[in-house]
Amino acid sequence: HIKNEKKGGAVIFDSGMQREALTRMEIEQSLRLAILDKRFYCAFQPKVDIRTQQVRGIEALVRLRNDDGVIQAPGTFVDLAIELGLIDELTHLVLAEIMRSIDLIDDRFGTGVSISINVAAKQAGNAAFMTSFARALEKTGCPARFIVEVTEDAFVAKTRFQTEVLPVLRSLGVGISIDDFGIGYSSLSALADITADEIKIDRSFIVDIHKRPRSQGILKAIESLGDALGMTVIAEGVEKFEELAYLQAATRIKYAQGFYFSEPVFLEDLESDRRAVSKRSTGSINRPLQ
Ligand code: C2E
Ligand code: MG
Ligand code: MG
Ligand code: MG
Repeated sequence: HIKNEKKGGAVIFDSGMQREALTRMEIEQSLRLAILDKRFYCAFQPKVDIRTQQVRGIEALVRLRNDDGVIQAPGTFVDLAIELGLIDELTHLVLAEIMRSIDLIDDRFGTGVSISINVAAKQAGNAAFMTSFARALEKTGCPARFIVEVTEDAFVAKTRFQTEVLPVLRSLGVGISIDDFGIGYSSLSALADITADEIKIDRSFIVDIHKRPRSQGILKAIESLGDALGMTVIAEGVEKFEELAYLQAATRIKYAQGFYFSEPVFLEDLESDRRAVSKRSTGSINRPLQ
């Protein structure tokens, strides 16, 4: 669909391509600047007991603040950060940001709630990074509060993540969670080798679960899998009362996350943050992001 011609060796971009290239460049620049300025924030989303509504833990979801004050969700920059080799630094910054907010976390969600951090599957396979990250978790003084969320792709083969990193994390008491379960590439035989504490059922299976028999079947299967392998099952992306009602009535799944309970929330006023580089408000600060 995109047409480009070569003139004198130069590639002429049409307007669509140019826009795409510029956007990418802008994001790349703001990403590099944000890492230099440590201009990352975390929004926190609770994991809730679906019967008591008690908060079991929270998940830190990274956000980037542009110099014009606009907040970006990770969909716009995490893949780029991976591509540019910046993801490891970003993950360390996320941990630092969590530790900076730890009193606010305890006040808001309950003392000692578990704290989940997302790690890209590619990072998980990087033993050097994971070793330094494990050390950073240990240095917090409360490594057992943390849960590392990795997608199942990290578990497909006997990678160094499984053989070298997992045992270190486990010895520190760090929890392991399989994120977005059900949409990746892990086979059942791979699952047999995984030592994880938690399975997070991908949101795509939860959407309208109350009226989708096939999703219900899959959910039952994952539930049994969790039981058999000793892993806690969490439903991701609960948005509607009907979805929650189905989970409560027809499954033994104990925990869920989703906009129905809470969107990811900021624990401080970003506008007044000392690192905020612009006084301009975009009105987007308190808007839920996905
Ligand atoms: P994830 O770990 O699966 O996180 C869940 C995503 O679903 C979050 O999007 C969350 O805001 C959104 N969500 C939660 N409940 C609902 C719901 O009820 N409905 C809908 N439609 N969405 C819901 P977010 O924050 O944009 O994060 C997207 C992904 O970016 C995450 O997916 C995770 O894979 C990645 N990510 C986030 N923070 C980090 C990080 O610090 N490091 C790395 N490597 N990846 C991160
Ligand atoms: Mg996650
Ligand atoms: Mg997920
Ligand atoms: Mg996801």
